[in-house]
Amino acid sequence: MLDLVIKGGQVVTPQGAGFWDVGVQGEQIVAVALPGTLTEAGRAIDATGTIVVPGGIEPHTHLAHFISMHPDEDNHTLGPEDDTRGMVFGGTTTHVDFCFVRPGLSVQQAIEQRVARWKGNSYADYSFHVALQGQLPIPLFDQLQDAIAEGFPSFKVFTVNVLPPHPKRHPYRLDYGRIQLAMDKVAKHGGIMVVHAEDDDLVQFNYEKFREEKRTEGWLLPEVHTKLSEKLAFRRTIMLAEATGAGVYFVHTSAREGVEAVVEARAKGLPIYAETLHHYACFTADDYKTPRGFCYHTYPSLKFPDDQKALWDGLVRDGVSTTATDEFPTSLELKLRGRELENVTGGNLGAEARMGIVWTEGVVRRGMSLERFVAVTSSNAAKILGFYPKKGAIAPGSDADLVLIDPSIRKALAKSDFHVSDYSPWEGWRIDGWPVTTILRGKVVVANGKLHGDLRDGRLVSRKIDPAVLRRASA
Ligand SMILES: [Zn+2]
Repeated sequence: MLDLVIKGGQVVTPQGAGFWDVGVQGEQIVAVALPGTLTEAGRAIDATGTIVVPGGIEPHTHLAHFISMHPDEDNHTLGPEDDTRGMVFGGTTTHVDFCFVRPGLSVQQAIEQRVARWKGNSYADYSFHVALQGQLPIPLFDQLQDAIAEGFPSFKVFTVNVLPPHPKRHPYRLDYGRIQLAMDKVAKHGGIMVVHAEDDDLVQFNYEKFREEKRTEGWLLPEVHTKLSEKLAFRRTIMLAEATGAGVYFVHTSAREGVEAVVEARAKGLPIYAETLHHYACFTADDYKTPRGFCYHTYPSLKFPDDQKALWDGLVRDGVSTTATDEFPTSLELKLRGRELENVTGGNLGAEARMGIVWTEGVVRRGMSLERFVAVTSSNAAKILGFYPKKGAIAPGSDADLVLIDPSIRKALAKSDFHVSDYSPWEGWRIDGWPVTTILRGKVVVANGKLHGDLRDGRLVSRKIDPAVLRRASA
C-alpha cells in the first residue's frame, strides 16, 4: 500500500503537465498515474484546483554569514533554523549555501564546519557550494577533485572584491590565474564554476572616484557596480571557460549585457548558465530612492527597465536558467542601517517569496509555461548543480518533494504572510497564486498555513552533475 497519494491536481512532470495522481512510498515518488487509479494509500491529499510542482530549489543563500558591510560590528545573518522555516512555507524544499575556503583552511575543514552548523538545524534539505577566496596556495586546488567526489561539485569564485578594502573584510576576489586553475580542475573532474562576475578594476575605481567627488548616496550603486562591469567580467570569464573546457553558472545576473553574453555563449554550445534574482526582475534602480529602497538591494545592484526586460525574456524563453534569492536574512533595522555607497547592507530576504513571485510575475503576468516555471524554480538548478533527478522532478524514483500552488489566491502580501524576519521586501506586492502545501521527502511539512516540519527534517544531499550538463548548454 502507498503511504500517500496526491489526487486531482494538475501535475508538472518532465514529460509535461497533465492531470495525474502522484503516489508516494516512504521518501520517494513511486507512481504518476491516471486519476483515480491509486486507490490504496495511508493518506490522501486532495489537490483539486492546484498545480503540483517539484519542491523549489534555492541555489544561492548566505545563512549564518558575517555581515561585511558593517565590518566593525560582529553581525551575522539569521541561520538555517530561522530562514528555512520561510523556505518550506514558500515551497522551497532544498537550498544551497556556501562554505568559505580562505588561506589557512582546507576545503575539507570548510565543508565540515558548515555541515556541522546545519545538522539538526534545517527544515529543508541542503548542500554547499565551495567558495574559494583570496590568495589561496596553489597546491590547495588539488583538493577540488576530492570535494567533487564527496558530493560537492560546485565552486564559487568572485572576480571582484565587492566592497572597498577594509582590515576586517576578507578579500573575496580570486585572481584570474587561480580561476583558470580551478577551471582546469573542474573541467577534468566533473565540477562546475559558480561565478560572481564583475570587473574589479572598474568597481574599485568607481568607489574611489565617487569618494573623491564626495558623492556618497547609496542610490548611486548602479553607477559603481555598472552594466559595463558585468559585460567585461562575464565575457572574460566565458573566454577563460571556453579555453579550459569548464562549465560556468553565473550568479545574480543583473544586466542585459550579462544575459547577452550568456545567450551568445550558449548559441556556440558552451555549458554556460545564468541565474537571476526575483528582486532584480521586479525592482529597478529607481526603487533605491523610496523609503525602504535598500530592502531590494544586493550586489552588483538593481539596474534599469531595459535590463529587467532582458531578465524576463531570458526566464520566460531561454538564456536565464534559474531564479535565486542571494538570501541574506537580517532584521529590517539592520537591512536599512547603511544608506551610503560603502555601507548599504547587501543581500536579499525573499527565499520564502521566490516560488510565489515567479508564479505570479512569470506564469500569470508574462505567459511563462508551467514547464518553464518548474525549470526556473527547481529542475534547472537541480540539473546544473547535480541534484537531478533525485530532486527537481516529479517522476518515479525521485524524492517526494512536492508543492501545491493554489492559483486562486489573489491578494496583496502582508507581513503576516512571512515567517523569517520582522519584514519582507514583498509586503504590499499583489500576487495571483501562492504555495499552500509543501511535502519534503514524503512528509507534509506545511499545510493550511501550519508548520508540521521540524529542524531535524533537513538533510545534507550529495550531488553529482550529469556530464551532459557540462558538455553543452542543456538546462
Ligand atoms: Zn551571494
